Order: sequence, then structure tokens, then C-alpha cells
Amino acid sequence: MSAKILLVEDEEKLARFVELELGYEGYEVSKAFDGVTGGEMAASGGYDLILLDVMLPGRSGVEVLRRVRKVSSVPVIMLTARDAVTDKVSGLDLGADDYVTKPFAIEELLARIRAALRKARTQDTRCGETLTARGVSLDARGRFVAVNGAPVELTKREFDLLHYLLKNKGIVVTREALLENVWGYDFDGGTNAVDVYIRFLRGKIDETFGIKLIRTVRGVGYAIDDA
Ligand code: CA
Repeated sequence: MSAKILLVEDEEKLARFVELELGYEGYEVSKAFDGVTGGEMAASGGYDLILLDVMLPGRSGVEVLRRVRKVSSVPVIMLTARDAVTDKVSGLDLGADDYVTKPFAIEELLARIRAALRKARTQDTRCGETLTARGVSLDARGRFVAVNGAPVELTKREFDLLHYLLKNKGIVVTREALLENVWGYDFDGGTNAVDVYIRFLRGKIDETFGIKLIRTVRGVGYAIDDA
């Protein structure tokens, strides 16, 4: 199956050239010429990789990346202007997988794409593993939770919250970190939301099954313990 690539690039000539070359390599390419459209397409999912220009009209590539990372771990390669060190650093900080400096040789871009897709495939197999603690198991890809084999129905938010706590098993996670990673940067409902959803989770898991899964760390946050 050919990989689907989203190309967000406002220089239309360059975009067409890259599209053509990727097409020769057997990739399926969709294009967006501005950050707003690109961001929406990226967030809707269904792509195996995103090529993201940094300097875009509407919304910068860095801003698009920030939004994409809230909902997806799809590999992203940033296309940056020569010597734009800040772009590279903020891109990588925000979770870009790689960057290519313009002007680039198409062979270099193709090599980076192959490497990023390969890396994503290896990680996929790892993410496919089930996370467990105290009889609770969470299958991230199937979005399925069970306690001692009995399925538990969770809302999307409850699932994401439990997923984040399980991924950080053995670590105390602050309310702020939970808000940022589960709710997103632009949520302004306050850290109370975290406590409310922890209560929901405890109702459905701890209380229903009589286990102690989520530990409160007063004044700090919550933890799921390792043992
Ligand atoms: Ca540009």
C-alpha cells in the first residue's frame, strides 16, 4: 500500500514539483497552500506523513505542528529556510521528526521521507502494545480498556486521561501537565477539569472494581504506580 503524504507548502511551483516527484516514487500526495487549510487537513488524519513548510500564510508551520501534535503522532518533516535555526529548534521541540533545509535536493527529501516512515512503522508496533497496571489494560490502537478482562466504557477524554497516566506509570503527573497533554494548550477551563475527570475514572474503575489505581499526590497531581 502506498503511503499518503500531506504537503503543506505555499510556493505552488515547489509544491507541484515535490508532488510530481513523490508521485513517481509511488506516494499518494495531497496538497494545501496555507496553514489553516493544511492544519485542518492534517488534524483530520489519514496521512502517513506530513511535509510542513514553516513560513506559511494563515498559520505558521510551527503553529500547525503544535495543533497536529495534540491529536496525532504522525511523522512530520519541516521544510525550513536556510539558516533558520530557531525554526528548526522550535519545530523539533514541538515534536517534528526531522527537517529539510530549502533549497533541497529531491533525493535528500526522499531519503528523509523513507527514514521517517520507517521509524514510524517501528514505533507503531511498539505503541500497539497494551499498557497495564493493577489488572487494568489499555489498548491504545484499539482504544479498548479492560479491568481483569472485563471491558470498561470510557469517554474519549477519560480514555485519553487514563492513557496519559499509564504512559507515565510510576511518575507523578501534575495537573498542569495533564491539562496540557490531554486537554490541549488552548483549554482555559482551569485545573478543576482534571479533578472532575479523575473522579469519573475512579468511579468507573477504582470504585467499580475495588482497586486502587489512581493515587492523588496532594497539591501536585496524580500517579499510577508501577507495582
Ligand atoms: Ca513558504
